[in-house]
Amino acid sequence: MTMTMITKVVIANRGEIALRILRACREMGIKTVAVHSTADRDLKHVRLADETVCIGPPPSKESYLNIPAVISAAEVTDAVAIHPGYGFLSENADFAEQVEKSGFIFIGPRADTIRLMGDKVSAIQSMKAAGVPCVPGSDGPLGDEIEENIRLAKGIGYPVIIKAAGGGGGRGMRVVHSEAALGNAIALTKAEAATAFGNDMVYMEKYLENPRHIEIQVLADSHGNAVYLGERDCSMQRRHQKVIEEAPAPGLSKQLRQKIGEQCAEACRKLGYRGAGTFEFLYENNEFYFIEMNTRLQVEHPVTEMITGIDIVREQLLIASGEKLSFQQKDIHIRGHAIECRINAEDPHNFTPSPGLITRYHPPGGLGIRVDTHIYADYKVPPYYDSMIGKLIAFADNREMAIAKMSMALDEIVIEGIKTNVPLHQMLVRDVGFKNGGANIHYLEKKLQR
Ligand code: ADP
Repeated sequence: MTMTMITKVVIANRGEIALRILRACREMGIKTVAVHSTADRDLKHVRLADETVCIGPPPSKESYLNIPAVISAAEVTDAVAIHPGYGFLSENADFAEQVEKSGFIFIGPRADTIRLMGDKVSAIQSMKAAGVPCVPGSDGPLGDEIEENIRLAKGIGYPVIIKAAGGGGGRGMRVVHSEAALGNAIALTKAEAATAFGNDMVYMEKYLENPRHIEIQVLADSHGNAVYLGERDCSMQRRHQKVIEEAPAPGLSKQLRQKIGEQCAEACRKLGYRGAGTFEFLYENNEFYFIEMNTRLQVEHPVTEMITGIDIVREQLLIASGEKLSFQQKDIHIRGHAIECRINAEDPHNFTPSPGLITRYHPPGGLGIRVDTHIYADYKVPPYYDSMIGKLIAFADNREMAIAKMSMALDEIVIEGIKTNVPLHQMLVRDVGFKNGGANIHYLEKKLQR
């Protein structure tokens, strides 16, 4: 692979992550092109970018998801590469393919890797082959023979979960507790998957009752080098959406981290993985079970940056330029503890979105406080997109101090004019169950029910 120093990047995203990418580009002397919908002219990164291209009306389908419009923006501005951020087109293999066919660099893995990981059945099969521990399951799509499916479920042991191969966003899954309910559950999940994902392939896994969500961040270059940057614990979830993330995972031993991390890095080498990526696991009784791989930058990447000192977006840009990783595993040291709270424009009690004009904004600050957000006073949060308006990150020598810092920062932040979930976070960082560390993925939902 030849080196193509990236000199100009199209940022094919919006909001805080677009600003995050713009900052990394600017530090590296890379020119930026902001593409935006007509609803997003006032985004902070649009104002800061070297060039801007309006790519369509507010609905994502007609703008941020419009592949020809995004690629045209790269053409008219003579850009070298496209960074997809997260969400939108970031895990769309057809997009990655068309970007490269059009002569641009896609800042992410190869299209075939994205495709392989996008189908959960093929992802699990390749992970198994690469030595990554997976959830006991059907090892492939379920057929129509009910007797065979009953035999499979019996072998795995109830409860089992039926999952759509093309599923995402926490949809297309059904837990089955007994043989009597199995046939119906498979038929229903298949039908739902066909409508929602255009693919009725389903598979079966053991349903883990009280796992934690722990994920491993990796970086791999195009020369066969791969490292892991430790883990994140993202167990604080509501409706399968992460609310608070932290690194390292409370209570995880160095030995276990090293073992699972090495397995992920080795899988990257075997797959010829390129770029930043995340292996998501369920973690129960000191065992890791792979559930899926995210072939992109993640919302929660800052907590890993804080504890490793590695700028993940900068590394993505260097890898995409064809450079070798400038460090090896032995050079990566985990220090301190970082916590991230996702700040959403929503009612903290009933979670309904709360777009509108921000009349007043004062960010918190101080040593170890990081605020990744695109908002400012007089910014109007449009109603068309995800309700996340920023991330508050606290970093300190240990978890207890990081929680204390976060708690202070949450009390200090002022966002007026719209409702936000700051009160929910204030409650959570003072909660004994959270403070103890190691809560499972059902903890927050159960707490909210009470
Ligand atoms: P998606 O792509 O829709 O996010 P995942 O496979 O990542 O789907 O699963 C989403 C969530 O569903 C997990 O974080 C976990 O809460 C739950 N889940 C998935 N598989 C299992 C399983 N085998 N046992 C228990 N919970 C599961």
